Amino acid sequence: MIYLKACPKCHGDIELISYPDIKFLQCLQCGLSIDSKDAAKKLAEEKHLAHSK
Ligand SMILES: [Zn+2]
Repeated sequence: MIYLKACPKCHGDIELISYPDIKFLQCLQCGLSIDSKDAAKKLAEEKHLAHSK
């Protein structure tokens, strides 16, 4: 799954990488990685909010 323009640092595209025992987000543009399920959820919610405007 990819969150477009969701990177808090560079506003690049972030990919959600999931393995059986770990999930993390990684920015395709700047390489920023966020190792948190909560962060993933938050990003998804923000993306949803941005869409609803
Ligand atoms: Zn980035």
